[in-house]
Amino acid sequence: MKYDMVLDPTPGRKAFLLGNEAVVRGALEAGLSLASTYPGTPSSEIGNVLHAVAKKAGVYFEFSTNEKVAMEVAAAGAASGIRSMVFFKHVGLNVAADAFMSTAYVGVRGGLVVITADDPSMHSSQNEQDNRYYAQIAQMPMMEPSSPQEAKDMIKEAFEISEKLGLPVLFRMTTRVNHMRGVVEYGELVKGKPKGRFEKAPSRYVPVPSNARGMHIRLLKKMEEAEEMASTSHLNRVEGEGDVGIITSGAAYNYVADVVEEHGIRARVLKLGFTHPFPRARVREFLKGLKTVVVVEELEPYMEKELRAMAQVEGIDIRIHGKMDGHFPRHYEYTPEVVKRGLNSALGLNLPVGGVKVREITVPSRPPVLCPGCPHRATYYAIGAVLRAKKIRDETIFTTDIGCYTLGIQKPYEMADYLLCMGSSAGAACGFAKATDQPVMGFAGDSTFFHACIPALINAVHNRANMIFVVLDNRTTAMTGHQPHPGLPIDGLGDEAPALDIEKVVRGIGIEHVEVVDPYDIKETKAAFRRAVEHNGISVVITRRECALIMDARNRKAGIFRKYDVNQDMCTRCYNCVENFACPAFYRDEEGGVHINPYLCDGCGVCSQRDVCPFGAIEEVKKE
Ligand code: SF4
Ligand code: SF4
Repeated sequence: MKYDMVLDPTPGRKAFLLGNEAVVRGALEAGLSLASTYPGTPSSEIGNVLHAVAKKAGVYFEFSTNEKVAMEVAAAGAASGIRSMVFFKHVGLNVAADAFMSTAYVGVRGGLVVITADDPSMHSSQNEQDNRYYAQIAQMPMMEPSSPQEAKDMIKEAFEISEKLGLPVLFRMTTRVNHMRGVVEYGELVKGKPKGRFEKAPSRYVPVPSNARGMHIRLLKKMEEAEEMASTSHLNRVEGEGDVGIITSGAAYNYVADVVEEHGIRARVLKLGFTHPFPRARVREFLKGLKTVVVVEELEPYMEKELRAMAQVEGIDIRIHGKMDGHFPRHYEYTPEVVKRGLNSALGLNLPVGGVKVREITVPSRPPVLCPGCPHRATYYAIGAVLRAKKIRDETIFTTDIGCYTLGIQKPYEMADYLLCMGSSAGAACGFAKATDQPVMGFAGDSTFFHACIPALINAVHNRANMIFVVLDNRTTAMTGHQPHPGLPIDGLGDEAPALDIEKVVRGIGIEHVEVVDPYDIKETKAAFRRAVEHNGISVVITRRECALIMDARNRKAGIFRKYDVNQDMCTRCYNCVENFACPAFYRDEEGGVHINPYLCDGCGVCSQRDVCPFGAIEEVKKE
């Protein structure tokens, strides 16, 4: 099986693992018993690996409904004395934050590791928040690996430290470490306890004010202990010698190490892995004899602020450079070039910058698009036609959500006017329905519906919001790699599970106007939206058709290769298919003739309907 290499029992074996795969291996070497998540890139592969191997490894694993639930499940596991792990992308921690904060107060018995996968440069995210500040707000120890090997080794230490302190540990990764491949040397696999036992102790586990006050004092004491641990930890190590100091962590360390070695810079580098609490004793020792220190870290000046505060409080006379005096940028991922520029600026060096010269070539811009055969395209197409016919296309406010359908922002659909976070399509639609007299339509996928839309829809019912809510139900969590969700009959362990019916849930919370349609049937889909537009009050349309990639994979396996093409004798060159339906398989030749690229066409056949090609010019290609 694809991920079985993480189950190899041979200590000393070396494997070429993704950072996310190494995390699973490390957790299995630590005796993991329970893990939970809501999928989100760049952490998604951790879940994919566990989905494949958890059962064999004797670990309980679930794709929870959302990150807050995942956090609560893992916290309960740790409170029951079993080693537990929860992981999500950085913005997932915002969703989990309420539970996360209190978990630091009530503490843990079994080790609890909370992985946050931050996304500098926003490769697949709406912001690039620096989640290291969560460790400060929650008062939680934090670790930051720089490579797959470190990720594997540090996870084990994170569990141990968590148990020693009785606190959860925040394990902060970034895209470059999650998705980096590297050689990882295995240790022993350790079987986790199959079940724990919860020992009742309300004064410890129930933070009502009278208990929480004592909990906070205990937490602060534990963090003093944690600072001593961080100061003596081998995860915070010094490399090299020189008159200049560099403090760094995470992915930035790799670039610093490369630049220092390649250019023979005489520098003493403090590589921090256990970064919260700030290991002041270790840093104090490191600074001895230095006149200048540079802090190199991605995103916010997190360590730099700690260092500046420490120097001020302790009266340490040293020049500190970093982001706060403008030498390093506060946004996007770093590269060796960024580090060189920063060091040049901070230290007056003259390191060559500009990187390897590559031949400049002009490539056409390729904005991300919905896949050929994507059912969402058909939905957007049908809605556009209905709203245009009703002459309300332009004034309708479209709230959207996190998923493939965010691509509805692209031309020609342009049905994404407002987005905040998971579930905001429903909540913001309620707001717009109250704040304006404009028609309002919200879009969310099936996984997002379960994740965070239900409370907002309850809000819409109770507060009588006049809006249309569309659930683009493609039967999977598509954007993060096709993970299951509560609407599917499979759970995180791969076992059969009860599948919740979105229509019943929606009706159950009091929404009466609900329709389920197949978006591939454009005529029916248009009719359903016409009725929804005419309905006064909240209406929900569920457009249900599985993700085209799943259909493609199944067809390929079954040897089915359907293709469509344009009959040039019938085509009038009206261009409705190209300009309004806009499947990326269509293209125009130099004379203006329309064709379908057979390598892109997935044979969905939607474009062959008269609602797309009014002249019936698109036909299935008959197999020779
Ligand atoms: S919609 Fe039909 S007639 Fe119009 S350009 Fe496309 S294939 Fe030709
Ligand atoms: S059949 Fe038509 S809509 Fe479907 S993938 Fe092919 S060209 Fe695109």
